[in-house]
Amino acid sequence: MQFNKYLNDIHTYEAGKPIELLIRKYGIKEKDIIKLASNENPYGTSPKVIFKIYAFAKNMFRYPDDSMYELKEALARKFYVHNSNILVGAGSDQLIDLCVRAKCNESSKILMAKTTFSMYEICAKQTNAKVLKTKDHTHNLEQLYSLYKKYGADLIFLCLPNNPLGEALDKKEVYTFLRKIDKNTLVVIDGVYQEFASFKDKRKQIIPKHLINKFSNCIYLGSFSKAYGLGGMRVGFAIAKKSIIKKLYKLRIPFNVSSLSLIAANEALKDEEFVTESIQKNFLEMKRYEEFAEKRGINYINSYTNFITLNLDNKYDSSKIVDELLLKGIIIRDLSSYGVNSIRITIGTNKENTIVLDQLEKLFQYY
Ligand SMILES: *Cc1c(COP(=O)(O)O)cnc(C)c1O
Repeated sequence: MQFNKYLNDIHTYEAGKPIELLIRKYGIKEKDIIKLASNENPYGTSPKVIFKIYAFAKNMFRYPDDSMYELKEALARKFYVHNSNILVGAGSDQLIDLCVRAKCNESSKILMAKTTFSMYEICAKQTNAKVLKTKDHTHNLEQLYSLYKKYGADLIFLCLPNNPLGEALDKKEVYTFLRKIDKNTLVVIDGVYQEFASFKDKRKQIIPKHLINKFSNCIYLGSFSKAYGLGGMRVGFAIAKKSIIKKLYKLRIPFNVSSLSLIAANEALKDEEFVTESIQKNFLEMKRYEEFAEKRGINYINSYTNFITLNLDNKYDSSKIVDELLLKGIIIRDLSSYGVNSIRITIGTNKENTIVLDQLEKLFQYY
């Protein structure tokens, strides 16, 4: 059967290996598996959220409130915007897709950093748009701008901080870049790790309200999957001018976020203390990986997220290290598919990191 030809060119998203796979394939017990491959919150989610989910379970036979009023109101209060500036999606992944589909078609150009969140390119290719990437792996605004000047762009992705590398740009340089971009170009600022970046360094903080007031062509994306510990619930949000939100809304399927997910996200917002504590512990634990790398002369990227990327250069082979760890029940990310010999490790709990560092130590001695 003939399908659209451009489908051949689309790579499918490569998710972090699930715990279930290690149980099935290697017979490793669940309690012995450490999954640090998807930047989940290792402390789980707020106990208040879990309690709320139990209490709500009896209402699951009903369709969700499709206006998502409660969650939108809560987000509007948190970010000092109006609820008409907010769109809620089944993860920010769904919102990335809406942005691309609302703005692009087969004659469009989409700009992004060379090594960034893979869904940008996947969604771009689903609309058959042309993807233009910088030479540098990390975000290089000069290179992005020269591509923009040369070819133009219908959409630009900025991942601040960037997954899978962990670097973040200063707000000041981002604003300088945005001033030079035409108002007909949609700029997606993926702020899924902003909770971490703004905690570590205020200069990296992008405040959605300021952003959209200053740049009417920008859309900010946030998520409950990372700092809030709700990856399994699939809730993300977009903040933009009402005119942009209204257009994206036309592409939305009804009831795109489940009632349980809406309840969970709303409750998670009420326990900021849990999130702050998780972030504090994250950066304390990250120091252990930095010290480990420094001691062994391994380069790492200064991270503003809940993961750290180690560049193994020509010392070790990233795929080999990742495979060896897998046999020990440790799941991390090999970045070789991005064309870099690097590994990405989500920062785990104190206990998990001790085990991972211990195993890494052994492997680095051996290879
Ligand atoms: C995890 C991640 C997302 C997707 O998050 P969901 O809300 O779970 O869909 C988007 N962008 C980046 C950069 C991510 O790391």
